[in-house]
Amino acid sequence: MSQPQHGVSLASVYQARRRIAGQVVRTPLIRSQALSERFDAEILLKLETQQPTGAFKLRGAANMIAALIERHGRDALAAGVTTASTGNHGRAVAYAAARLGVPATICLSRLVPANKVAAIEALGAEVRRVGESQDEAFGEVERLVCERGMTLIPPFDDPRIAAGQGTIGLELMEDAPDLDRVIVGLSGGGLLGGIGAAVKAIRPEANITGVSLAHGAAMWESLQAGRPVAVEEVASLADSLGGGIGLDNHCTFELVREVMDDHCQVSEEAIAHAMVDILEHEKLLVEGAAAVGLAALAAHGLDVRGERVALVLSGNGVALETLDRARAMVGR
Ligand SMILES: *Cc1c(COP(=O)(O)O)cnc(C)c1O
Repeated sequence: MSQPQHGVSLASVYQARRRIAGQVVRTPLIRSQALSERFDAEILLKLETQQPTGAFKLRGAANMIAALIERHGRDALAAGVTTASTGNHGRAVAYAAARLGVPATICLSRLVPANKVAAIEALGAEVRRVGESQDEAFGEVERLVCERGMTLIPPFDDPRIAAGQGTIGLELMEDAPDLDRVIVGLSGGGLLGGIGAAVKAIRPEANITGVSLAHGAAMWESLQAGRPVAVEEVASLADSLGGGIGLDNHCTFELVREVMDDHCQVSEEAIAHAMVDILEHEKLLVEGAAAVGLAALAAHGLDVRGERVALVLSGNGVALETLDRARAMVGR
């Protein structure tokens, strides 16, 4: 069989699942009675919030590190793995590396608050604090790769990362084989691309709907332009969906272009409503990026009547101040 250019196939997702079994949680898919009634559809929630690091990113990070060990041996990784991320990806790399017995160095700017630094250290990684911005922290990552022989674990743009996230798609197909649609947050595209590759291979008629922020939607603007473009980053309740896709993107741009059927963009107000609704009615704490699927259903007029729909609740990494901000916007 010919390998697609983006390098992600159903076989690579199955391979990922075998590698990460035991490192990540096979998360539940639960039916929401309230949302099913509200949208006159069967609404299912995929609880990635139950991963030990609070988000799905563990799947991709664990798959890539395990694949590197498998291919090159543990000794080749003696210098360790590295990345620059304060958020779910940094936590995922720290946790997966510790579990797989590989040293991890997470580079963070000096502006990252002490509690976030401590949280990553507590997962077993070394934290290096450099510079005053994410860009400077990333410069340090490049230096560690060049000078110390460390291995970069990127947040989305690698077929091993996307295949790891794609294991969510396999679980969805097992738990809801007749699924009509998956609604999933879209940023760098590892999550949507991986899920789409798995689901489309098993059930081609299932619809993959991506949801981006109203402003700074790098993947969506890149798809419109026909090539990766840079966008201005805007602060959002869904901070995990911020950031670019990389002007030299070599995997997820092509992958998302291939598998995504529908797309919508959601406002901050819609995200705030969705976060508070999920907390109040589902009793689940989710971050903004995990609430965009519901925001799209509620505010975008996305018509799913009669469909069987999975919303991927991608993570719970939300600070209480952010939740307070969402509640203040909604007035509840
Ligand atoms: C990273 C992340 C996303 C987006 O994933 P991409 O692979 O970058 O598209 C969505 N939700 C949460 C919670 C995330 O951490």
